[in-house]
Amino acid sequence: MKLHRVYERGPNGERAGEKLSNGVRLRPKLLGVEVVHTGTDAEQHFAPDLVDRAIDEGWMTFDGETLVLHTYGGEDLKYRVRRVPGCYCLHCNAKLEYEPPGAPKAGTIARAHVAALHAGKASPQPKRWSSGYEVIHFYDCVLDAKQHAQFKAGVTSG
Ligand SMILES: [Zn+2]
Repeated sequence: MKLHRVYERGPNGERAGEKLSNGVRLRPKLLGVEVVHTGTDAEQHFAPDLVDRAIDEGWMTFDGETLVLHTYGGEDLKYRVRRVPGCYCLHCNAKLEYEPPGAPKAGTIARAHVAALHAGKASPQPKRWSSGYEVIHFYDCVLDAKQHAQFKAGVTSG
């Protein structure tokens, strides 16, 4: 996906950081974010720091199920959130308590879950996640199908 941040211009078209006629530099003021395209796939992984920043800046909202990207001068893009950042069982997809690396018991709860409920079963993704659970550091989202068709990469809208 490609985003473009839109900043307020000065009275004579000055950009943020440029000097106005009174000699004062124009401070950047974000008006909003335009979506150039939403990428080639409807699936989208949003980094938590991007989401946090976007919510702070007011161009994203998250109700726990849908991440809405409020585009500047355009329509709201609705992303269904399949999984929030965290720890998930690869056998049954259960969300497990996330203990970050370096935490005293990192992975203990996840390993206990796998041992108790999926004993003796090989990890569904043995090469990447040999323990049978995975940790994701992104919002695993999928864009509304109609909007994906309309805004995906390579489509020029009239
Ligand atoms: Zn499980």
